[in-house]
Amino acid sequence: QLAAESQQRLAREVEQRTQELVAANHQLRALDNQRRQFLADVSHELRTPLTIIRGEAQVLLRQSEVNTETYREALQSMLQQALQLSQLVDDLLLLARTDSGAMLLEREPQQLKSWLRKQLEHWQRIEPERDWQIALELGDQLLHFDAERMSQALGILLDNAIKYSPSGSPLQIAAQVSDAHLSIAVSDQGEGIAPHDTQRIFERFVRIRRSSKGTGLGLAIAKTIVEAHGGEITVVSKLGQGSTFTILLPAMKEVDA
Ligand code: ADP
Repeated sequence: QLAAESQQRLAREVEQRTQELVAANHQLRALDNQRRQFLADVSHELRTPLTIIRGEAQVLLRQSEVNTETYREALQSMLQQALQLSQLVDDLLLLARTDSGAMLLEREPQQLKSWLRKQLEHWQRIEPERDWQIALELGDQLLHFDAERMSQALGILLDNAIKYSPSGSPLQIAAQVSDAHLSIAVSDQGEGIAPHDTQRIFERFVRIRRSSKGTGLGLAIAKTIVEAHGGEITVVSKLGQGSTFTILLPAMKEVDA
């Protein structure tokens, strides 16, 4: 009887291990698919600007005489594509570094209110025709954060709010500090996002519309930066009405002035 019992136990254990192996295999396959998809996306994004640069150069070289205006236009377009390529490579490097370990942050104590004002002034200069509605309910708190990275994260949200809403429509920025956290909310009255897409858009290379001018890396980067600071980005959106993206940061890192 003892032998039968231990045999049963053994069989159960084998069964359990087999199930674990099957699950691990599934996971590996899913990861492998993700990696393949990522490589395909990267290759596609790199190829597009390269094709344009090559095309422009070939057209110029084929002509025996080119007037200055045509030259300038072609060079302008090549420069534009080269800048896009550099941006893409920078973005990919940032994400790759984060994948292989924690993002290196250069945190410095910053006065939040003046930092945020400066950021918004910069964006207001870029989009002066917008109706900017700004409400900063902040005191003189100092917060430890990496100003350059955080400017990048906030910039991505503002850039999206501008890209995905009609020109001239209002943009609302609201910042608040509570005991637990600091929040910066960016609201637009643009095209909005369907409920089933609101989490997907934070994944790499995800664009809801194929016609989007961006690479689909923006929100993945913004999320990575904010999470490296111990915070999170939330989104509330209604299709056809607009979106609110909020950066939440823990306020515990506050230091005394
Ligand atoms: P992209 O470079 O395409 O802007 P992001 O990662 O920043 O990439 O955004 C991913 C997708 O999420 C965008 O292509 C767009 O479809 C959607 N999206 C982002 N922000 C907004 C917004 N404010 N309003 C509507 N859609 C948005």
